[in-house]
Amino acid sequence: IQVHGTCLKDEAGNTIGAMVVLSDVTRIKRLEEIRKDFVANVSHEIRTPLTSIQGFVETLLDGALADKETAERFLNIIHNQTRRLNMIIEDLMVLASLEQKEERSEFQFSEDYLAPVVQNAILVCQSQADDKNIRITSACPEKLKVKMNPSLLEQALVNLITNAIKYSPENTEVKIEVTPGEREVEIKVVDQGIGIPSDYHDRIFERFYRVDKARSRQLGGTGLGLSIVKHIVNVHNGRVAVESKVGKGSTFYIYLPYEKS
Ligand code: ADP
Repeated sequence: IQVHGTCLKDEAGNTIGAMVVLSDVTRIKRLEEIRKDFVANVSHEIRTPLTSIQGFVETLLDGALADKETAERFLNIIHNQTRRLNMIIEDLMVLASLEQKEERSEFQFSEDYLAPVVQNAILVCQSQADDKNIRITSACPEKLKVKMNPSLLEQALVNLITNAIKYSPENTEVKIEVTPGEREVEIKVVDQGIGIPSDYHDRIFERFYRVDKARSRQLGGTGLGLSIVKHIVNVHNGRVAVESKVGKGSTFYIYLPYEKS
């Protein structure tokens, strides 16, 4: 708590009272901490691939270039790390633009059919699924309309489906099911993947939080996907949830406000 005190005086300079202002700065302090953590995390996440690139370039310049095989191996690593940097920056820009547009209330929302949004999201992820022989199935009522920003919602679904594929073994299934309730539409993405220990269920939506950093990195993750999902769902006044069992699979839920007509 911050305390500010002032003496109140009349025109002749006599003290006639005092004013004490107590401000609860817990929230401001907490926001400040979150921002500081975020900057520290971004720096760390960007520095890791950069340090690796620098190291391999230096080794190449120091002579490794002479051996074609080594040079090719190192260049491949450098290539992967630059791709990684690009992905981190792309995701950070998505988050920044979400925040900026939210502040300026620039998002356009309209009553739109949900089924094509689900289909488009699946289309984006199809080749990734094919690579692992993962079958994507979906069930969504054709006539169901929801108030939304279709491209944002598609992005949220793509992130969830991508994760479902990334964290599942080959020859499994990813299901997307949409069920309208009385006041909410439930969209769930179900996988038969590695699952998430329950201790982590709250934390995975935080920026850069990953259950297994090495695995996420290896699979090309930035640790920002779910925080983008949560943010997109928040701007729709919706909510997210997760249910998961280690070794059995995970189900991610998006709930969007809906008026049953
Ligand atoms: P990442 O880029 O690491 O996938 P996300 O923000 O998308 O970042 O997810 C955060 C973490 O949550 C992941 O690193 C992973 O540990 C866990 N996770 C997300 N989706 C799934 C899933 N479908 N199955 C298992 N683990 C998941």
